[in-house]
Amino acid sequence: MADFNVKTLEADLDFEHLPYWDVVIVGAGPAGLAAGLTTAHRALTTLIIEAKDSPGGQPHFLYADKRIVDIPGFPDGITGEELSERTYRQAVNALVQFRFNEELQSIEDTDELHDNDPLKRVEIHVLGQTSVLGEQPEFASSDKMRRLLTLTESNEHLTEILRRRHVSPGVSITIGNEHGDPRFENFTIVTSEYRAGSLAGVIGVIGPTRMPYEKVIAVVTHASRLVSDLLD
Ligand SMILES: Cc1cc2nc3c(=O)[nH]c(=O)nc-3n(C[C@H](O)[C@H](O)[C@H](O)COP(=O)(O)OP(=O)(O)OC[C@H]3O[C@@H](n4cnc5c(N)ncnc54)[C@H](O)[C@@H]3O)c2cc1C
Repeated sequence: MADFNVKTLEADLDFEHLPYWDVVIVGAGPAGLAAGLTTAHRALTTLIIEAKDSPGGQPHFLYADKRIVDIPGFPDGITGEELSERTYRQAVNALVQFRFNEELQSIEDTDELHDNDPLKRVEIHVLGQTSVLGEQPEFASSDKMRRLLTLTESNEHLTEILRRRHVSPGVSITIGNEHGDPRFENFTIVTSEYRAGSLAGVIGVIGPTRMPYEKVIAVVTHASRLVSDLLD
């Protein structure tokens, strides 16, 4: 039977010099923070490695101001920012340890233990590598890639889907069935509006539902600004 008693880690543990970590979690998004909280509450020493400079994952970086209404226990909703802040604080209180600005790139499978390296087996490199859409597992299937190419080759499909979008200043993100078209249900579209006088349009990226949103949003925003400036 599961033991639901919360056990706490010793407050005076010397985390800098542990012989090893009981648990290493990659990513301080909602899943990593929740997992870390659980393992620390089982008195397991827990390290979370996060590629970005702060915790929270998508709710923090992509929709900080959005009111999330589907999390149990928050009948009035909670913003992405507040959810991230609260979950992080809870993990810190449980003595979960964090390393930011570090991206796990590979795990070395070895029996050799390195002295003074509490991470053992885990090889860490500083953030820097970019994952491109073509490396996404979603596109490992040639069928999905073919479907995407077919959709993008047809002006008619794209025009239709873009017309249906709510055109508003700033970036617009639609995911899966939010497009209202089953042909696009495996994809995300990120667009940004450009304007020059009475001329208006959108520049966007279409890709898998799991994509590096932050980078895509930055590229799309920058490109739409450039077009606005050029046309002005
Ligand atoms: C616009 C938008 C609105 C959404 N609205 C809702 C909603 O209302 N309700 C809802 O339930 N869900 C919503 N979602 C989905 C929800 O945000 C995700 O399901 C959730 O963030 C997934 O959590 P996660 O921890 O698995 O991943 P993420 O939030 O993506 O976090 C993963 C973390 O791991 C880090 N990371 C990744 N790889 C590495 C590595 N190799 N080394 C170190 N760090 C790494 C990343 O930097 C990131 O911080 C929305 C998503 C988007 C894009």
